[in-house]
Amino acid sequence: MKILRTLTLRGPNYWSIRRTKLVILRLDLEDLAERPSNTIPGFYEGLTQALPSLVEHYCAPGYRGGFLQRVQEGTYMGHIVEHVALELQTLAGMSVGFGRTRETADSGVYQVVFAYLDEKAGRYAGRAAVRLCQSIVETGSYPLSELEQDLQDLRELWADAALGPSTDVLVKEATARDIPWMQLSARFMIQLGYGVYQKRIQATLSNRTGILGVELACDKEGTKKILRDSGIPVPRGTVIEYLDELEDAIDEVGGYPLVIKPLDGNHGRGITINVKSFEEAELAYDDASAASKTRRVIVERYYEGNDHRVLVINGKVIAVAERVPAHVVGDGKSTIAELIEETNRDPRRGQGHDNVLTRIEIDRNSMNLLDRQGYTLDSVPKKDERCMLRATANLSTGGIAIDRTDEMHPENIWLAERVVKTIGLDIAGIDIVTSDISRPLRETDGVIVEVNAAPGFRMHAAPSYGLPRNIAAPVMDMLFPPGTPSRVPIFALTGTNGKTTTTRLTAHIMKQTGKVVGYTTTDGTYIGDYLAEPGDNTGPQSAELILKDPTVEIAVLETARGGILRSGLAFERSDVGVVLNVAADHLGLGDINTIEQMAQVKAVVAETVKPDGYAVLNADDPRVCAMVERLKCNIAYFSMESDNQVVKRHTAQGGMAAIYDKGDLLILKGEWKMRISKAVDIPMTMKGMAPFMIANALAASLAAFVHGVSLEDIRAALETFEASSSQTPGRMNLFELGDYSALIDYAHNPHSYKALGQFVKNWPGERIGVVGGPGDRRDEDFITLGELSVDIFDRIIVKEDDDTRGRPRGDAAELITKGIEKCDRQCQYEVILNETDAINTALDSAPKESLVVILPETVSRAIRLIESRLPSRN
Ligand code: ATP
Ligand code: ATP
Ligand code: MG
Ligand code: MG
Repeated sequence: MKILRTLTLRGPNYWSIRRTKLVILRLDLEDLAERPSNTIPGFYEGLTQALPSLVEHYCAPGYRGGFLQRVQEGTYMGHIVEHVALELQTLAGMSVGFGRTRETADSGVYQVVFAYLDEKAGRYAGRAAVRLCQSIVETGSYPLSELEQDLQDLRELWADAALGPSTDVLVKEATARDIPWMQLSARFMIQLGYGVYQKRIQATLSNRTGILGVELACDKEGTKKILRDSGIPVPRGTVIEYLDELEDAIDEVGGYPLVIKPLDGNHGRGITINVKSFEEAELAYDDASAASKTRRVIVERYYEGNDHRVLVINGKVIAVAERVPAHVVGDGKSTIAELIEETNRDPRRGQGHDNVLTRIEIDRNSMNLLDRQGYTLDSVPKKDERCMLRATANLSTGGIAIDRTDEMHPENIWLAERVVKTIGLDIAGIDIVTSDISRPLRETDGVIVEVNAAPGFRMHAAPSYGLPRNIAAPVMDMLFPPGTPSRVPIFALTGTNGKTTTTRLTAHIMKQTGKVVGYTTTDGTYIGDYLAEPGDNTGPQSAELILKDPTVEIAVLETARGGILRSGLAFERSDVGVVLNVAADHLGLGDINTIEQMAQVKAVVAETVKPDGYAVLNADDPRVCAMVERLKCNIAYFSMESDNQVVKRHTAQGGMAAIYDKGDLLILKGEWKMRISKAVDIPMTMKGMAPFMIANALAASLAAFVHGVSLEDIRAALETFEASSSQTPGRMNLFELGDYSALIDYAHNPHSYKALGQFVKNWPGERIGVVGGPGDRRDEDFITLGELSVDIFDRIIVKEDDDTRGRPRGDAAELITKGIEKCDRQCQYEVILNETDAINTALDSAPKESLVVILPETVSRAIRLIESRLPSRN
């Protein structure tokens, strides 16, 4: 077996609209192509021995053991690889179940499709599955050690991919509220919402968190001063820079017990608590100084009491947790070292902030603390005796958290809310030391030790004891107050021909509404009036660029087959999905070999329209009409025929449509008829002579109309949209060259040649074609091009692209001439392989009143050649 290619899908796709995360292996079974599993001795036994849990896979039979039964009866290796890839991920803690396997047109080559949770792990599982199956085929088994290594690697990939605990709760809340989110490439930043509505978070910092508030909170001394000025109780203390200031500082603070900590520390680093002598103070000073970037150290009074963390979001106290430092409780038998080990065995304890709790680790501070309590690691504390291992209660050093939200005294709530406003933070954690949070701080001699920007959510979302609190909801309420949008409208357009033209036109119409429109096309990504990025941008990455842009108010996305097949859509649903047509083009690429399969690819755009959105469909194209069956959204049709039956039935039921009727573009809404414009007034239709352009105009108008755009705006847009070489290069660009004309068009498949032909045949003078096409098309497509050319032109010059895309030079031209000669009608033709020479020859020899039609490889080069001949304007 050999993996020929691996694709990673990340959005709605050809295989599934709902299951957006899929890996696709293109797998060549090689010698196993002719050997189903029942013909491989020992395979069934080896497989069940390696992965007994495969018995849980139902597969086609639909019951437990169903898949293994298939293996026993005989199934192909691609199918087995699919199930093994799913099972490996599941065993590593990523529960996935969706898979499909299909044979491709290349015999023995399969597409193996399976779900993933983390894409790296998904791809890994695919490779491991192939390895496992191959090993069982060859040796009858897969070594246990290898399997364990695979699972270990998969678990690590999964852990690496995990978001931080605070980010994770925020993202889950966003998902529950149907707010889209994406990871940005820098600094663990997460974008919530699209375009102009987006907000950002980074852990628990939000885009509303002010830098002044953060700076102040990080300066513990400054915080204390500001709070003290407001009459808020804070520890009495001072800041020193050198050891020789220590003695005076201790006097100033009022003697022992003391706390000594770095001025700019966090996570409890460098803190010593309950310092009772000068020797201890000196050691504590060294620790604190070493942990401080500025080498400055706080010396403050030690306040007896429990440690509390009060979480304030958007001005309100949301949660309160009491934090207890890492400790163990004696059982009368075990040593402290054993008790620690036992405590760390709790599956909730992990490394750093990864888990609900963090493992307890012993450092010099812990040893000192034990020493002061009269213990060593080998002591055996009495039953129920509490033995402290850390002085500070940070969860990240092994502490635990107990929810106390409902116990906080109203006066303390008032105080906490005032503190956070005073510091100026939208999300803050206040550290309060008091013996009893249910009594006012004044009464207990409690103090506010510090205020934290970007407080962790873990202790509130998953306290070790007490009620978990939904702290993400108030954050979302703050970022997206009820009733505010998080999504920009998305228009997605697909079809074999006319996508770019219709996308540009739709964007042009939407611009009339005064909004900033971001749109992607084959010749670039645009935001408002400017090109943001040149290139063939019809895939999900370009769509993402638009959805990430903070100025975009409406997204209009040309959505081509290539991107859908390569990685799926960039969005899970759209407001309006337009399908223009489905014709033979790109067949044979990406394992899409039939036009029916191609229709299914394009249907993804219609099937992802949200239930109250609209699919805008071509009623003249039966393959597009057939998509309706699987749609759950509203539908609107466009048609070039005034009596199209699909449209008639649809409008009879009150539906919306756009049709062309005797020179007019009309919108139908039930029984109502509204005129958009006359075709002759719409420049892109070439005075109404280019029927396919009228169809594109109908589609774009209808897409805008169903979204609520007024007829006036639509009309104004149609009448100002020109298919000029500057606005739509390569699409019906007509040039007047003195006494003859030239047309550049990008038609590159039989369907678009025919469409173009309808226009060209309306031309009164001689018609000369300069024709050729991209080399990666099928042989029969070139022959068809030749045949169609005879029908359209009086004289033909056959040329080739510079880039033959793998074909021998002259090959495509030969096929085209074969097509030309097949026809009964005599047609004058010559072959000039070089495109520039071919164009120049045609232009040089063009008689009066004639039309030279060029299907170029490079549009800009063809335009330059023509422009150099334009009659001078002076
Ligand atoms: P974190 O980043 O977890 O908030 P930190 O490194 O910023 O910790 P502080 O919050 O200043 O450090 O102190 C950590 C803990 O030490 C406090 O939560 C409190 O339990 C204890 N503590 C600090 N200062 C005092 C004090 N003056 N009196 C009593 N306890 C104190
Ligand atoms: P691509 O696949 O290259 O991105 P596209 O679908 O974006 O193509 P356009 O660039 O808008 O299509 O048009 C390409 C050519 O297809 C046009 O120049 C014209 O010849 C032809 N065409 C445009 N619209 C239609 C249509 N509605 N029906 C048939 N052919 C069309
Ligand atoms: Mg703190
Ligand atoms: Mg295009």
